[in-house]
Amino acid sequence: MSVASPGPGEFEASSSLGEFDLIRRFFIRGAAHAPQSGVLLGIGDDAALLAMPPDTELVAAVDTIVAGRHFPQRTDARSIGHRALAVNLSDLAAMGATPAWATLALTMPDADQRWLTGFSAGLLDLADSEGVVLVGGDTTRGPLTVSVQLLGHVPRGTALRRSGGRAGDLLAVTGTLGDAGAGLAFLTRPPATAAGRAAAEMLIRRFDYPSPRVRFGCAARGIATAAMDLSDGLVGDLPKLAGASGLAAHVDVDRLPLSDALRAAATLEQARDWALAAGDDYELLVAVPPPRLAELNTAAARLNLTLAVIGELRAGGGVTWSQNGREFAPAASGYDHFRGASTQITV
Ligand code: ADP
Ligand code: MG
Repeated sequence: MSVASPGPGEFEASSSLGEFDLIRRFFIRGAAHAPQSGVLLGIGDDAALLAMPPDTELVAAVDTIVAGRHFPQRTDARSIGHRALAVNLSDLAAMGATPAWATLALTMPDADQRWLTGFSAGLLDLADSEGVVLVGGDTTRGPLTVSVQLLGHVPRGTALRRSGGRAGDLLAVTGTLGDAGAGLAFLTRPPATAAGRAAAEMLIRRFDYPSPRVRFGCAARGIATAAMDLSDGLVGDLPKLAGASGLAAHVDVDRLPLSDALRAAATLEQARDWALAAGDDYELLVAVPPPRLAELNTAAARLNLTLAVIGELRAGGGVTWSQNGREFAPAASGYDHFRGASTQITV
């Protein structure tokens, strides 16, 4: 913090809310951290000091979200705070890691206290519920950009990777697919019927408040052979897991898990397009040997989560799709449109 002579990118200490006042007011929650949090020194010094649990490996991820690109400009501040942490939690979940500490680099046009109240509540409520402590950050002035770095740990040698899949492994996904992409589309084009609009509300919530599958990721350690999170849509993401494992993948499109809300708001064909190609679901995709599927199902059920087998890994390369037993090519138009929507939002 530059108290003496604030540069153009800093919040002036002499303004109504100086940089550290702002941090103290919005980003420090509670008193001392519980010893099991591993936080020896949190916000306030030049850097945080963190103690790793014994026999673990550090897992690190960072994601930046930009207004108008990763979320619509009009998005509620609480949703932006939630999302900024959720996308990172999802990455750690995909590694089977336990998230522990976050740092926040926040760039915003002005220190709007109403906005900061919503934003920090969205971020810190999710942090609290996932056992994550915000241990530092940086605050600067500029176009709204939120960068969260998340640190966590896994027992040595047990992290889930994309590359561990084996031929014959089943491919399974948590939850339902396509909801967030549909929600994003319905923001600009609401469904025609009242029932459709009610369902769209739920889908929009799925876009605004993604639920990273952290506990399931940890439970899948030692059972799943490979994992990744679905942020860009199955059509875009599955080739990455298959490629990293050096294998081909096949998916039966009829088995894609679709929510009741999505089915109520869209035709089956549209619903499938979203489930295939839309991003922002933050569900987990795992590979699991058939004899271990029951174990993984039990783990999911304990977490009130459904797990749907959608296909398998095979020897070879590339991804193939079938519907009604016939070869199927995911619609190129839907693919471009919806993938574009997840990375180039213009609403
Ligand atoms: P420095 O100039 O040494 O980088 P700052 O004065 O910018 O430190 O920040 C003071 C303290 O506040 C540091 O501990 C920093 O990690 C923390 N901090 C700054 N911005 C944020 C933020 N947006 N969220 C959480 N902690 C922050
Ligand atoms: Mg700083």
